[in-house]
Amino acid sequence: MTDTVRVRFAPSPTGKLHIGGARTALFNWAYARRHGGKFLLRIEDTDPERSTKEYERAILAGLRWLGIDWDEGPDVGGPYAPYHQAQRIDRHRAAAQAMLARGEAYRCFCSHERLDAMRAEQEVEHQASAYDQRCRAVPLAEAERRAAAGEPFVVRFRVPQGSTSLVDHVRGDVTFQNAEVDDWIMVRSDGNPTYNFVVVCDDVDMRITHVFRGEEHLINTPKQVLLYRAMGAKPPEFGHLPLMLGTDRKKLSKRTGDTALQDYQEKGYPKDAVVNFLCLQGWALNGTQEIFSLDELVRNFDIADVSKAGAVFDIDKFRWLAGEYLRKEPIETLLDHCAPFAVSAGLVKAEELASKRAWLASVLAAEKERMHVYSDFPARIAYLFAKDDELPYEPDAEANARKHGTRAALLADFAAWLAPRLAAGEASASLRDAMKAWLQERKAKMPELLQPLRCALSGRAGGPDCFDMIAWLGPERSRARIASAVRRLA
Ligand code: GLU
Repeated sequence: MTDTVRVRFAPSPTGKLHIGGARTALFNWAYARRHGGKFLLRIEDTDPERSTKEYERAILAGLRWLGIDWDEGPDVGGPYAPYHQAQRIDRHRAAAQAMLARGEAYRCFCSHERLDAMRAEQEVEHQASAYDQRCRAVPLAEAERRAAAGEPFVVRFRVPQGSTSLVDHVRGDVTFQNAEVDDWIMVRSDGNPTYNFVVVCDDVDMRITHVFRGEEHLINTPKQVLLYRAMGAKPPEFGHLPLMLGTDRKKLSKRTGDTALQDYQEKGYPKDAVVNFLCLQGWALNGTQEIFSLDELVRNFDIADVSKAGAVFDIDKFRWLAGEYLRKEPIETLLDHCAPFAVSAGLVKAEELASKRAWLASVLAAEKERMHVYSDFPARIAYLFAKDDELPYEPDAEANARKHGTRAALLADFAAWLAPRLAAGEASASLRDAMKAWLQERKAKMPELLQPLRCALSGRAGGPDCFDMIAWLGPERSRARIASAVRRLA
């Protein structure tokens, strides 16, 4: 064993990277970086039916997107290669053989029928379902003879008597009675080893010092700790990260929000906001600072500070945080992030992006105040692309425009005043000042004009400055929209 911290993230490529998995990866990575250790990536692809290369690629891409890098792994190699679990099967089989020879494991020849009957009986007796250990008594030589003769068998772990204690970095002291751990199956009758067995084989072989993973694995830890001991290896230190709960306090599921990291990426959540929010799922920088960077995480991360209480995944808070990050981006970067969403919404053609760039940047600079994620962009600017005489009015915007019954008339007068100025190409800033003077002369207040004008230009009750919108629409379209509103609001 080396003293260097060696941690790993061990995803199964049987689906998209779950946000809980992304958090596990992030905490392991931060721990390795904080302690000058190694972070390994191991692909647990032992289920050939459900594992795909596509999921594997997506998982790697997701981790990279978050800014996580690995010192050893399937694509970068390392001293304990291969880092695909399925390619380590010979090593797993050899370890099982060695344990059989030492008597730490035994072959079980019990038929399905016998096991089913046993389970049914246990159920009637309200006993926990567990193997009754009958085949423990089969002498090794006889078991070897029967196996060689082709009789089907599984390999079971011989759970020792006593109790086992460990100190979990998150949960504190944990003690369990070995009697509660079933003589679990290490190798199935088809010769394929099971998760609990291979994960320990590989963690031993790869010199893993700390295992930080989701709380759902706590149930496996007793089996694994006993297995380390049976293999003559020192168990790593464990830390079980709290479950991520939906706002309904149930296990996070599609019901309460997207569960795949990729979904948030595709919805245009700023990457740094995702990292920050995932960190907040069970960890806090200090009592007060909610917004922090990956660097701050690495400088401050301590597994002992992870809370054992379930972490509530509050999507509203996530969106709020996303908005905070989005607004901090330089406008050119932000536009690079948002423009593809305007293209896929059909508002702008990809080939027009260059020529419309300055215009889009000016719109975005104003609209970002009301955005949370990049994909909010098309909905925020769709009004600029509507037909001028068919602009949809939001009910609130129209109600504001019609208030007191005098506003439409004021808008009509303003339209007449504005038309020649627009035609003369007067700039927005100067129009804004002139409008104020015009209102003063008429002893009218700003909202009396600006609310119907806003409705005319955007159909919305809130949004950017009216004269900015006039600049974006240009004189002709602004004039057309105001004329249309005068007709529609009359
Ligand atoms: N392949 C397992 C999983 O994805 C790894 C669990 C562990 O970290 O031990 O859940």
